[in-house]
Order: sequence, then structure tokens, then C-alpha cells
Amino acid sequence: MHGIVGWLAVGLGLTPLVGCAPAGPRVGWEATEVVLAIHGGEGDIDEKWSNEDKERYKTKLTKALEEGRDAMMAPGGTSLDGVEAAIRVMEDSGLFDAGKGTVLDHDDHASLDASIMEGREKRAGAVAGVTIIKNPITAARRVLEKTRHVLLVGHGADLFGIREKLDIVPPDYFLNPTNWEELQREWKKDNPRFKQPGRAVAAPGHQHYGTVGAVALLNKSLAAGTSTGGLTNKMAGRVGDSPIIGAGTYADNAACAVSATGIGEFFIRYAIAHDIVARVKYQHLLAGEAADEVIKQLKTLTPPEPTEGVQGVEGGVIVLDPDGNFATRYNSTQMTRGYIKKKGPPVVILFDKK
Ligand code: ASP
Repeated sequence: MHGIVGWLAVGLGLTPLVGCAPAGPRVGWEATEVVLAIHGGEGDIDEKWSNEDKERYKTKLTKALEEGRDAMMAPGGTSLDGVEAAIRVMEDSGLFDAGKGTVLDHDDHASLDASIMEGREKRAGAVAGVTIIKNPITAARRVLEKTRHVLLVGHGADLFGIREKLDIVPPDYFLNPTNWEELQREWKKDNPRFKQPGRAVAAPGHQHYGTVGAVALLNKSLAAGTSTGGLTNKMAGRVGDSPIIGAGTYADNAACAVSATGIGEFFIRYAIAHDIVARVKYQHLLAGEAADEVIKQLKTLTPPEPTEGVQGVEGGVIVLDPDGNFATRYNSTQMTRGYIKKKGPPVVILFDKK
């Protein structure tokens, strides 16, 4: 509601026109009646994927959606259950830049970040820089449920995972030939110690890497979560947007749930996830329109290193509103994603142009 016009309208008992939600959608939703949607990062290109790769990704994304929905629909299930269960499948798959498939820091270590949030009371939990926790999303959920804090980092977060009896793995669980080769390629570029972290881009014949995220809706209550190993060759100690509430993840039942992927520094600086929610809440945009606006803004920014085929800073988001309307927005070549309704088979999209 804007200024005196709004106040006058209220004073006169009229319904003010300014700021009212429009009748009917102004954006094309990717799908409606969605209960759970996921993403597996953005930015790869079709030609790099073999048919076997495509099959493997489809199978895992399908499993993530089915297990997420099952967890939500079980007696007492919640939207948080859907987000956590779906992300765990992707973390365990080794196919994404999260959990087992995570990319490596400049110093050849894996350090993982995750966050989760629910939209009713805005409870949130996150971990950053964990090194021995198999499923960072579950650690984030425990922070939400078992502590009075929102974000635990590094050693303290790892210890919390041990105390909570989460699945603990040796740090080399996260090492594999693919992320090692990927790191070496970055090292070989000029002056690697001072160069900006590179996006995780898989070489031909290698796995695709992407941060993972989920948004879910049950009984009008939203949840969102994101999990990542960050950027290849990032500095030790670097934390991206994924565990930062308001940057990589946000959920508000009065607006929408958001999970983001992209160059985390910009998502932190522009508070992207919360920016989308704020545009829905205060400008009364639809979630898809708000996502459009922030992606447009990313296009105007200057990244540390330009990414081929991307205007501005590379990134993408998935958004889900309290009516089950789902949208994906990104400015790179592709965003891997999928969604599922209360009934029926999951839909998985690897490449839009297919
Ligand atoms: N946003 C993640 C980060 O900056 C990386 C990604 O989404 O690919 O840590």
C-alpha cells in the first residue's frame, strides 16, 4: 500500500487498488499444484552429457523427488521432511556439487555448506565448512531443531554432527578422481593462489557438478533448503551463499520458498533469496516475476571472471509459492531441476532445449 492513497482508502473502508494481488497469474508457471521441487545446479551444456550421464541424473533426480514426497506424505510428515529427504538423495549420489560429489578447495580439501528453513515461524538451521558430515542438510536441520542458533561453522559444526550421531565419514570420502582433476585444471591456470574461485564446470566426459536445492509445500507451509561444496579452488575458509539464510535459501509462507545456485558472493551481497521474498511480500509480485527481476539484476553485474554464454553474474533460482505454483529462473545455459505433485510421476528437466 502506498502513501496517502492507501491510508485514505483504508480510512474510507475501500479496498485500495494499489498493491493488490492481481487476478490470475501474470507469469507462466512451470507447473502448478507442486508439492516438492528440486534443482541440481545450473550452467552446463547439453553436448557434455553422454546419454548414460543423462540417464544417471534422471534416475537420481526422480529418486530424490519420490523419496522427498514419501517423507512428506508419511504420517506427521512436513515440508521440511520433503526438503531434507530429497537433498539427502542428491548429496549421496556423487553426481552433484554437494555431499559425496562435492568440489575441492584450493588446498585440496572438501568443505561443505548447507541450510534449511521453514516458512511458518521462520525457523532456520545451517552449517558451513563441515568436513566429515556425510549429509550436511541433515546437520542443518538438526541445528534448526536442536539448538538456539541458526549457523554453526567448521570444527564446531563437525563436533555437533558427531554429538548428534549423524553419519560421519573420513574426509577422503569426498575425494575422487573427478573433483581432483577439476581442481588441477584450476591450479594450472595463471597464479592460482590469487585467482578468483572458478565455477564448477565439468570437462567433456566428466560428471556435471551442481549445487543442489529443494523447495516444498505441505498444508500451506513452505520449506526450502540448499546444499553445496561451493566453488572449485575456493580459498580455504570461504563460505558461499548456500548456508546463508536470505542469500541462498529462504522460506516465508506469506510469499514463497527459494533455493538458489550461482556465484555465492553476489547472492550474499544482493541477499537474493530474501530479495525475491521481499518483492513478493511488499511489491505484490508473483514469485516467478520476482525471480525474473533478480535474475535481470544479476545480468547487469560484473562477475570476477565472465562465464561463457552468460550475461553478467551466473545464477539461478527455484521458487514455490503457498498455492503450489512453481517457477525456475536462470541466466546461464541450463538448470537441472524437477518437480512432483501430490499424485503422479515426477517431472525431471535436464535441458530446456530438448
Ligand atoms: N552458490 C554456490 C556457492 O557459491 C555454488 C553454486 O551454486 O554452484 O558456494
